[in-house]
Amino acid sequence: MTRPATRMIVLLTAAALTSAGPALAWGPQGHRVIARVAEGRLSPTARLAVRELLHPGDTLPDVADWADHDGHTAVPNSAPWHYINVPIGDAHFDPRLIRDDKNVVARIEHFRKVLADKSRPKQERQRALLFLVHFVEDVHQPLHVGDNNDHGGNDTQVQFFNEGTNLHRVWDSDLIHKVGGNDRAWVDRIERVITPESVKVWSKGSVDDWADESLQVAKLAYRDPAGSPGPFASGKVLGESYVRRMEPLLIEQMARASVRLADELNAIFR
Ligand SMILES: [Zn+2]
Repeated sequence: MTRPATRMIVLLTAAALTSAGPALAWGPQGHRVIARVAEGRLSPTARLAVRELLHPGDTLPDVADWADHDGHTAVPNSAPWHYINVPIGDAHFDPRLIRDDKNVVARIEHFRKVLADKSRPKQERQRALLFLVHFVEDVHQPLHVGDNNDHGGNDTQVQFFNEGTNLHRVWDSDLIHKVGGNDRAWVDRIERVITPESVKVWSKGSVDDWADESLQVAKLAYRDPAGSPGPFASGKVLGESYVRRMEPLLIEQMARASVRLADELNAIFR
């Protein structure tokens, strides 16, 4: 879930100052486990179609973070496709404010059409699959939607368990690493909150609704109930109590992403 390359310069500078590495996304682990849960929910038809589109031997988890790495080389200028900046002060995500199609919401809608269009060349549909998988995951990372005039948290420097980092990176990977566990442990955590009732709720709604949910979670991600009201700024110290409050939200966002990713592919490959 990396942010634009232009921002990497800022991040690398910040990293040099804080000795933390640059933000790399719902880290590769986040992307991988969401895809793994989704893969387990594919219909036999969708599973076969996905296998036919991917390179032999590749699975959805293998390719889920392609867009954060080779994707930038394959499609230069694709960095803005990974996010959409919505002020956390906005009550709701308003799709009428979208100015162009270079954002995660518009790209999901674009790539689902390309993938569903069997008249398109296989190579084009394969690339659409790689981007669609990744962007359905990215739009569920709250800081890929919520923005406090800080590039989705990238410019909000925080201390997370005495490590210098930024709020975007906390949500991409620091929280996941702090909660800990291997992929199997994460798959279990995610699957535990996927119930028939939650699936019924999550399966409804549009990409706009998903973005709105992320915006609502982002508002909470910037809040400290014990601190001053309003979103916190750079310099914030985050520790155990932040992790305890955010962990259920993190797992729920990953679960929603898994269910919806499977829904997308099952609907496209009927
Ligand atoms: Zn991304």
